[in-house]
Amino acid sequence: MTDTVTTDPIAARALGLLDALGVPAPEPGELGARTPITGAVLFPVRTDSPADAESAIERAAHAFRGWRTVPAPVRAAVVRRLGELLVTHREELGGLVTLEAGKIPAEAVGEVQEMVDVCEFAVGLSRQLYGRTMPSERPGHRLLETWHPLGVVGVISAFNFPVAVWAWNTAIALVCGDTVVWKPSELTPLTALACHTLLRRAARDVGADPEVHQLVLGGAENGAVLVDDPRVALLSATGSVPMGRAVAPRVAARFGRCLLELGGNNAAVVTPSADLELAVRGIVFAAAGTAGQRCTTLRRLIVHRSIADELVGRLAGAYGQLRVGDPTDPGVLVGPLIHERGYRAMTAALERAVADGGEIVSGGTRVDGFGPDAYYVRPALVRMPAQTAIVREETFAPILYVLTYDELDTAIELHNAVPQGLSSAIFTGEQREAERFLAADGSDCGIANVNIGTSGAEIGGAFGGEKQTGGGRESGSDSWKAYMRRATNTVNYSTELPLAQGIRFE
Ligand code: NAD
Repeated sequence: MTDTVTTDPIAARALGLLDALGVPAPEPGELGARTPITGAVLFPVRTDSPADAESAIERAAHAFRGWRTVPAPVRAAVVRRLGELLVTHREELGGLVTLEAGKIPAEAVGEVQEMVDVCEFAVGLSRQLYGRTMPSERPGHRLLETWHPLGVVGVISAFNFPVAVWAWNTAIALVCGDTVVWKPSELTPLTALACHTLLRRAARDVGADPEVHQLVLGGAENGAVLVDDPRVALLSATGSVPMGRAVAPRVAARFGRCLLELGGNNAAVVTPSADLELAVRGIVFAAAGTAGQRCTTLRRLIVHRSIADELVGRLAGAYGQLRVGDPTDPGVLVGPLIHERGYRAMTAALERAVADGGEIVSGGTRVDGFGPDAYYVRPALVRMPAQTAIVREETFAPILYVLTYDELDTAIELHNAVPQGLSSAIFTGEQREAERFLAADGSDCGIANVNIGTSGAEIGGAFGGEKQTGGGRESGSDSWKAYMRRATNTVNYSTELPLAQGIRFE
């Protein structure tokens, strides 16, 4: 595949995986493919220019003209084939996710499985893009709505789900008849090249136009081209709240559509009736999994005062057993933080928490031995006297703040008193408490769970959150509607011309 000569074993492994995936050798350029496992830059990768981004939009807009008239079940053939290729290459793509994002293999392969799942969902969806028929108030008239492809969908994605978020958007957009321009995170160019190659191969395998998918590598400057270009009908942007704050008004200014999937500050309430054994398992996976770098990571625990000491004790015990280290080592459950900035954010947050009276019960320290540029940390468990400003912020690292409550109403108030609104959970053995949490005056999040943690959503449901999380919904249920435009049609099959509301105009 490539003439690139490298002595770094991780770089060699990355090149081997790209080769197995059939990805052409990355062209050298200013972007460095980096691994958080050692912090090493593996090899340089080309970055696109803003002019390249514009050309990509042009190509996608051109491809849209043909793609929109291909019947949806026929369009689905590309997505079906992509799913097959992903099954074939599950381990290789998962391997690249591990090298680039630092996920343990189980989670990395799980991310690829999520792509397979959404492909299956989208294929079925291609025969279910239903419009409704409504009774017309006029005799001899038919009133209905039809759904049509929207245009070019711009996808901006974050580093922490480098492949699944792309698949959520792309599989659905393609069956809906849209074409896609993807600007992945600048931190994960290799997985992006792999996905782009597989999608293009899928299109060619089934005789479809590979131009329906375009890839633009680079940073925010290229994302900004997608943001401002009126040919991008929908901008689906996944990332931090500041990113959403920067892009949303600009898309709105040109009357474009935005689908925002931004930061979360997810909490779980644990009531005295909870099965603590189950709660501990759910909490540890949600708080420490992916080294706290999921949008749905559990960041706040709101525990009834009567069980707080016991639960914190059990959690501290479980945290003590978590193996932190090279994610490719068997038995490791917590891999590295993505970069130094993530580590600095974590230490700064812990300092602020302690200054606010917080007590670090477990973790919070750096784990050495992986080189100066690799950032491994022990997940932190911090008891807080109150929900102070730092607790209300999303720190994209494994910190779990523990707060206590006496009345469930207070717990729900605390739960909702943050600017973000992505995922939430209650651990309880009482149906009344569970229903209270799920009610209109309960959790204000887009995802509200009972007796499971905040992370690890299935693709069948709509995924997204409220408030500063941005209000977008992706993946399952009727999220597809964001990727299509609706037309209301009134058909007169009579010989009269009655007007609506009985208006006479004679
Ligand atoms: P980030 O905001 O730094 O970057 C995300 C993407 O936005 C990148 O591709 C980046 O290049 C691009 N970008 C940044 N500024 C931009 C601008 N002004 N114009 C156009 N593009 C711009 O986020 P990150 O560090 O990669 O990811 C972590 C964040 O993403 C966390 O806040 C996490 O909660 C969030 N996230 C949310 C979801 C969700 O579904 N709600 C999923 C994954 C991650």
